[in-house]
Amino acid sequence: MNVPNTENQNKILVTGGTGLVGSAIQWAIRNVPGTFGKKQNEEWVFLSSADADLRNYDETKSIFDKHKPDYVIHLSARVGGVFENTSRMADFVRDNLYMDQNVLRVCHELGVGKVVSCLSTCIFPDRTTYPISERILHDGPPHPSNYGYAYAKRMLDISSRAYRQQYGCNFTCVIPTNLYGPNDNFSEGCHFIPGVIKRVAQAKQSKASVMVVPGSGRALRQFLYSRDLARVLIWALRNYDEAEPFIISVDPDQEVSIKDAVEMVSEYSGFEGVIQWDTSATDGQLRKTADNARMRALLENFEFTTLEQGLKETLAWYSANQGHIRGMDARKGGQTPRGLL
Ligand code: NDP
Repeated sequence: MNVPNTENQNKILVTGGTGLVGSAIQWAIRNVPGTFGKKQNEEWVFLSSADADLRNYDETKSIFDKHKPDYVIHLSARVGGVFENTSRMADFVRDNLYMDQNVLRVCHELGVGKVVSCLSTCIFPDRTTYPISERILHDGPPHPSNYGYAYAKRMLDISSRAYRQQYGCNFTCVIPTNLYGPNDNFSEGCHFIPGVIKRVAQAKQSKASVMVVPGSGRALRQFLYSRDLARVLIWALRNYDEAEPFIISVDPDQEVSIKDAVEMVSEYSGFEGVIQWDTSATDGQLRKTADNARMRALLENFEFTTLEQGLKETLAWYSANQGHIRGMDARKGGQTPRGLL
């Protein structure tokens, strides 16, 4: 089994290098020294869908042949909020299965030294006990709203293990919780934090005295800053060689309520109106606590960015990039996401 050799020049290829997580890795290799950032003997290449459609085997083979990577962080995926996941169930299964199978197959064919891929805590069994831990990943059906994405992602874990077992490939996965950060996707049906940022910005722009938010706000979530995930992924590429994926999350006592998160975004955005909770709307699952004990055993002293700082940085990026934000049509001013909670 190949393990990254830090003495030689290494080429690291990141699929999905222009997305939320990929751009956070780009930030880390520019700004973070040492263990969690770029090393001198490394060349990093970031792919977007414009470089190759990874759902297509020939395009995947051709772009990997061109770059000949030593190591790969595999992030490209079809990702979305609840509405997108539910309304495009077949697309989520097909696109994710194709991308993952092509990337792992080509990495095997080219003898790539290691692949670290991303799963998600939203693919865990729906009916389970909390906190969730890595060992129950396959122990029951996922939530009906995203079973296409969830089963495809579970197959990424299965496939990584199978390549390891049959061919000795050093393929592994990590399991991040709910992400947010600069360069998030703000399209209709986006994830929770970009949805709130957009909603608050619209309320502020229209000088609304009241902003209505669906749900009661009492559901609890662990929000992970994309730049923290980037640092852990870089560490994992160099240091983690097990088949078993590990959860990447802030500690369970860092869970915050949706109410707190909305109030923080409102305060940091300067929205001065009243927040009204529409309790007729669903809260979703009240709690989905993830256990990060395995990560803490590996990275005991890893310091996560506080939600306050992460939100402030994300909001600063959002203000500075108006007109260039993924999923937002500047002419329409964007649409309020349907899958807010
Ligand atoms: P994004 O949606 O922000 O980015 C997706 C990336 O994949 C983009 O670079 C996109 O390229 C690329 N891509 C999409 N389709 C194709 C294709 N057919 N061929 C080649 N490239 C393609 O995703 P995230 O950064 O949020 O997610 C990264 C990983 O983390 C994924 O595996 C995801 O499942 C996982 N994850 C995400 C969470 C979240 O909350 N966002 C939570 C937990 C896990 P382009 O820019 O050209 O469109």
